[in-house]
Amino acid sequence: MATQVPVKTKTAITVARGDGIGPEIMDAVLAILKAAGARIEIEEIEIGEKVYEKGHSAGIEPEAWESLRRTKVFLKAPITTPQGGGFKSLNVTTRKTLGLYANVRPCVAYSPFVDTKHPKMDVVIVRENEEDLYAGIEHQQTDEVVQCLKLITRPGCERIIRYAFDYAKQNNRKKITCFTKDNIMKLTDGLFHKVFDEIGAEYPEIEKEHWIVDIGAAKLADTPEAFDVIVMPNLYGDILSDVAAQIAGSVGLAGSANIGEHCAMFEAIHGSAPRRAGQNLANPSGLLLGAVMMLNHINQPDIAEKVHNAWLKTIEEGIHTYDIYKDGVSKAKVGTREFAEAVIANLGEKPTRLNPVQYNEAAPQSSLHATQRKRKPGQKTIVGVDVFLHWAGGSPEELAEKLNPLQADGLTLKMITNRGVKVWPQGFPETFCTDHWRCRFVATSQTVTHTQIIDLLKHVALAGLDFIKIENLCAFDGERSYSLGQGE
Ligand code: NAD
Repeated sequence: MATQVPVKTKTAITVARGDGIGPEIMDAVLAILKAAGARIEIEEIEIGEKVYEKGHSAGIEPEAWESLRRTKVFLKAPITTPQGGGFKSLNVTTRKTLGLYANVRPCVAYSPFVDTKHPKMDVVIVRENEEDLYAGIEHQQTDEVVQCLKLITRPGCERIIRYAFDYAKQNNRKKITCFTKDNIMKLTDGLFHKVFDEIGAEYPEIEKEHWIVDIGAAKLADTPEAFDVIVMPNLYGDILSDVAAQIAGSVGLAGSANIGEHCAMFEAIHGSAPRRAGQNLANPSGLLLGAVMMLNHINQPDIAEKVHNAWLKTIEEGIHTYDIYKDGVSKAKVGTREFAEAVIANLGEKPTRLNPVQYNEAAPQSSLHATQRKRKPGQKTIVGVDVFLHWAGGSPEELAEKLNPLQADGLTLKMITNRGVKVWPQGFPETFCTDHWRCRFVATSQTVTHTQIIDLLKHVALAGLDFIKIENLCAFDGERSYSLGQGE
């Protein structure tokens, strides 16, 4: 009786061709995946310019979400985000709707075949993908002042930082660097750094370090070989992952994975390069390396390895698209289609001068999702309130004169700041003041109730003052949990 060879089942994936150079590079990538024997079943959805034009402000049709929820794997070509108000970024919407909290971007130099000042560079940026200033909570508060809220959560920090450590462990990386600006943002970036130290302690085999992001960024741009894996909050990660990809050789070469607990999205890091569209010019490598990460994610390391090595071999042979072509280094300048054909011809080959990759088993993504620790909620007490006013009436002393009589039972005016700088009491006349004032009231006894705050606001309103918002001043487990005014 003939033995039955088990047929490996196909994995359904959702594919979007995007616009600009998107459709051409997606065609190239899918041709390579097909030739490599990827066990995938494709569901296509439409996203981007045409969908925006149909009136879907996020660039995606409602039915497309059903496919994404069903397959949970998204291979996405770049799209053009229309300029002007009313349109939302599809990337941000997708990341947040599907809970794709980790953005992983390997930035590798392929020297001497792709020109770079940093031939030994091999850095993976792990960027938090959902929080920080990208929460998208913005308000115009006064004539002169607009505000964007920077939100950092403990579960968000725990998830991304544990992901970075697990990623490092599984990929045999030796060191993780954390970038924050916690010398200035002591609570928000301070939390990210604190959680990095806490979780890092569980990984004694991995070297850990923290850099302030400004000098860290300078070091990354100058000496990227000093870094291995770098984990950071959203905004710094957004900027520095592009810098890292560019200095490794070209933004056209880097792929990216956006990983969540339930779904994952894979893409190139570059955009739709509309000026290059439709000319068979674009480099499909970024999207192809994104697809390699996808193949590992869906547990097809054999195909991932085959495709990645064929691609490395093609790069090594000097078969290059215009963006990485260099006289004297490259052998042939090819278009998108011809590049894909060269990769297909190399399937089964390995590079001889660049290091071949080996993917024995797919990174077990499920283990990367941090089981969040159950924490006992802290003992929270309100010890005061910051009342923010829109006021263009005069000097800080004049404002204090208006506020002093309003003090409600149990609350006393302690300080007024303007743009975070203390201007009353004992401010400096040199300090520039705008029409946005933070008036800090603190408890005369131990704690403050919500009713006391409401009473205070009533007095403020009756005095004709325009309050914009309040922030309660809290202590958690007896520890001050708000920042002091500069000069307080
Ligand atoms: P871009 O990355 O599209 O292009 C910048 C330049 O890089 C191009 O002019 C081109 O010279 C080069 N380039 C980029 N990708 C290349 C490739 N694969 N091969 C060869 N050269 C390549 O950035 P942009 O011009 O700032 O943005 C264009 C549009 O893309 C905008 O609408 C932007 O919002 C959007 N965008 C989309 C994504 C995404 O969908 N993930 C990401 C970034 C930007």
